[in-house]
Amino acid sequence: MLILVTNDDGVRSPGLRSLASALGELGRVVVVAPDRNRSAVGHALTLEHPLRAEEIKPQVFAVDGTPTDCVNLGIHGLLSRRPDLVVSGINRGSNMGDDISYSGTVCAALEATLMGLPAFAVSLDADRFSSENLVQATSFAKKLAARIIDNGLPEETFLNVNIPAGPCSGVQLTRQGKRHYGDSVVTSQDPRGRNYYWLGGSEVGFEDIPGSDCNALQQGAISVTPLRTNMTNEKTYAEMERWSLDSLMGEF
Ligand code: MN
Repeated sequence: MLILVTNDDGVRSPGLRSLASALGELGRVVVVAPDRNRSAVGHALTLEHPLRAEEIKPQVFAVDGTPTDCVNLGIHGLLSRRPDLVVSGINRGSNMGDDISYSGTVCAALEATLMGLPAFAVSLDADRFSSENLVQATSFAKKLAARIIDNGLPEETFLNVNIPAGPCSGVQLTRQGKRHYGDSVVTSQDPRGRNYYWLGGSEVGFEDIPGSDCNALQQGAISVTPLRTNMTNEKTYAEMERWSLDSLMGEF
């Protein structure tokens, strides 16, 4: 059993260390992770410059690239063979609802899935890691990994897992929910009198959608969401067949 572990918080993250150590009980673990925090880089792939990978410890590679770079480089370049499973995390902070498309953690799992490998992302709903809050997340991630090793996952499908920091009321199978972010941009001036802008207003809430990832976490449950790589909206496709798109050709 060969397991590739990555994250977006960087190779030194306690969340990654805890995950890699636990998964080591299931098989051989190779860590290929960004050399620094690359949170919220989404599915970015580095094509304009070369990548460097430094083996900072045996089987632990620090890459000066994105989480997606790490999965790609790990599978095509650093690992001796294709891994049996790819796990991304444990992320510091949850990745639910709209976070999914921003999240380097989730997109690392997406990348592995696009490469035809079973994968999941795991995030802890906490601003800080502690040995206490990591225990639950790590233990669940390990059990889920064992289950996936036994059962596999359907093609083009991966799992997004979010784990509460506090006491856990159960595990819910969920759907991607909807977050609300603050809409402000922080504007200030640098010492040379030029404006700068800081994006990323904090989360101000979420839509109350029963069965969603956000609701599960609010109820103190672990959330497991099956995601797909193919984003085609079948319902809209069926409706748009009536649009006669071909007729737009005449307007050029
Ligand atoms: Mn992160």
